Amino acid sequence: MSASRVLPTDEATDLLKLVRDVATTELAPRSSEAEASETFPRDVFGMLGELGVLGLPYDEEHGGGGQPYEVYLQVLEELGSVWASVGVGTSVHALSCFGLVSFGTDEQRERWLPDMLGGGLLGAYCLSEAHAGSDPGAMRTTARRDGDDYVLNGAKAWTTHGGQADFYKVMARTSGEPGDRRGISCFLVPADTEGLSADNPERKMGLTGSTTATMLFDDARVPADRLLGAEGDGLKIALAGLDAGRLGIAAVAVGLAQGALDRAVEYARERHTFGQRIIDHQGLAFVLADMEAAVQTARAMTLHAARLKDRGLPFSREASIAKLVATDNAMKVTTDAVQVLGGYGYTRDFPVERYMREAKVMQIFEGTNQIQRMVIGRSLDKGDAGSLRHG
Ligand SMILES: Cc1cc2nc3c(=O)[nH]c(=O)nc-3n(C[C@H](O)[C@H](O)[C@H](O)COP(=O)(O)OP(=O)(O)OC[C@H]3O[C@@H](n4cnc5c(N)ncnc54)[C@H](O)[C@@H]3O)c2cc1C
Repeated sequence: MSASRVLPTDEATDLLKLVRDVATTELAPRSSEAEASETFPRDVFGMLGELGVLGLPYDEEHGGGGQPYEVYLQVLEELGSVWASVGVGTSVHALSCFGLVSFGTDEQRERWLPDMLGGGLLGAYCLSEAHAGSDPGAMRTTARRDGDDYVLNGAKAWTTHGGQADFYKVMARTSGEPGDRRGISCFLVPADTEGLSADNPERKMGLTGSTTATMLFDDARVPADRLLGAEGDGLKIALAGLDAGRLGIAAVAVGLAQGALDRAVEYARERHTFGQRIIDHQGLAFVLADMEAAVQTARAMTLHAARLKDRGLPFSREASIAKLVATDNAMKVTTDAVQVLGGYGYTRDFPVERYMREAKVMQIFEGTNQIQRMVIGRSLDKGDAGSLRHG
């Protein structure tokens, strides 16, 4: 049982059918094994690039798919429903392209964007450091101007696709001391830059098919034209991209929860106790009903935020609400899916225990859910008036 969708165009409907087909026939059969063996599925990203999925939300003039966020997020949801690592990786790739699309010069875009959006190159996003996650202004990695180059030194922690990506969007300090948020700049660093290397991958609770590693910069020299925007724009670029990135994570979390719900319903219709199917016990059917309500609530909030973005309206608060609701709901729904399967849910013979482990990280990255509450609370304090708009 898959999610019912109402899409804005025939083109979008065809796209979703294609993605659902690829997810079911190509991704789902491989996901459990790749996650168990902690294998990064680089070829899957090559295939998604060829299908045009990696550049979907960006303009066609830049080589993207020209799809509205409302459609793109439903594509991420379909990927997330069978393989969260692939859904997250697709979203992180889009985030790593955001700086060049939005702040690059025409010349920079013409040089690099076609390969980035066309899927020829896989991206990564380096904001966090070991001591600077929720508070990126505390970062210490530096980029010192030296003639026609910048020389980067430091370590960027927790990089999704670390050691696997072809380029890294890196926030580094060009001036000021740790704590000064204005001294941070944004660079597009190619993977083969001398002095750039990946530390050993993190050993994680879940999302084990997605490599996460600290990227080490040891006198890594990049030409000055690898700076995106002006010096000092780095945190602005990083945070602007995160509003959209959070919607990507929200969508993957909705998909993950939908996948867990589907497995739970299948099981509940087959399994018998006390002479009847467990779905016929009202106590268990109510658990499933609450799961369905949680999934649909999260989807509705995520798509509401997407539609605001598609219309060029402010959507930062709604993106934080979507991320908070979708990831908290995914944690609850995946935990309940394990419960529905009883003892079998706790084994690796069924995917729901993996879904539960994967849901946890959704509450942590791209701004923890405490940070989302901070963003929402601050927006309320600003007293943004409710508005009525047509169209
Ligand atoms: C699998 C994985 C992949 C990741 N991928 C990337 C990536 O690709 N690129 C990247 O840059 N980063 C990435 N991250 C890093 C991630 O974004 C950070 O882990 C996250 O922002 C939290 O930072 P932290 O771990 O330093 O926790 P901390 O900031 O130390 O927070 C610790 C706890 O304190 C809470 N807290 C902190 N400040 C406040 C506050 N003001 N009010 C209330 N509570 C607060 C937090 O919510 C959290 O519960 C990834 C992390 C993981 C686990």
